[in-house]
Amino acid sequence: MYTLGIDIGSTTSKCVILKDGQEIAGTSIVVAGTGTDGPEKALTEVLADAKVSRKDLSVIIATGYGRKIFSAADGEVSELSCHARGVHHIFPNVRTIIDIGGQDAKVIALNEQGRMSNFLMNDKCAAGTGRFLDVMAGILQLKIEDLETQAALAKEAVKISSTCTVFAESEVISQLANGVSTPDLVAGICQSVAVRVGSLAKRIGIREEVCMSGGVARNGGVRVAMEKELGVEIKYSPIAQLLGALGAALYAYDKACSK
Ligand code: ADP
Repeated sequence: MYTLGIDIGSTTSKCVILKDGQEIAGTSIVVAGTGTDGPEKALTEVLADAKVSRKDLSVIIATGYGRKIFSAADGEVSELSCHARGVHHIFPNVRTIIDIGGQDAKVIALNEQGRMSNFLMNDKCAAGTGRFLDVMAGILQLKIEDLETQAALAKEAVKISSTCTVFAESEVISQLANGVSTPDLVAGICQSVAVRVGSLAKRIGIREEVCMSGGVARNGGVRVAMEKELGVEIKYSPIAQLLGALGAALYAYDKACSK
């Protein structure tokens, strides 16, 4: 039996097809989110990746920012529940999830059963989200996937003192003009995200194990900075950006079994 989870984010659409509620048969990531043709493209790509057709899918569950307007789904589940479910499937001992997406950051506390027991969210300010990193990568003329390698080359992370993305943009430009090296700036930018989201995590209370999910988890510079900031090991899966979609595919499997 095949079930599909689609996570329609603010910037990116992600799909996972599960076989019999266990094995990942296909995935897709399309950098175009809600209100675009990203969700349909992600659906087409995941079907090709899993080598199945739409009629082979028992149930489709949508999650993410755009979940309510995706008519191809059989139901929707909140992204908090889906991230909790997806993370628990991969890392059953995780009790704190730090999920940083394109437009928001959430810290989710899990109980022993892997269910959400509490959460805190920042969706009011771009600093501490993927948007901040995307803007900074643009200024430095780097691809988002290159921030990790640049941060690893840093001798000393430069402290970014502006807490606002717009002011931080000017600060980075003036640091560049002062001859500060790109790696030191990138490490400082990653640290700035870790400090902001780390303070959200400290407010909720860190319980180990701790895992990062969402697209920003793919940035090793932020993961390393977060480990330093919180003083704990951060669990990481190469499918971090797909964990919400995986959770949705697991909920789809439950629904298919109860039919
Ligand atoms: P949303 O669900 O809000 O659309 P995602 O969880 O998909 O967001 O994360 C999108 C963010 O992930 C982007 O803003 C970008 O900063 C980051 N990202 C995406 N791909 C990579 C990558 N290969 N390396 C580092 N960061 C990445």
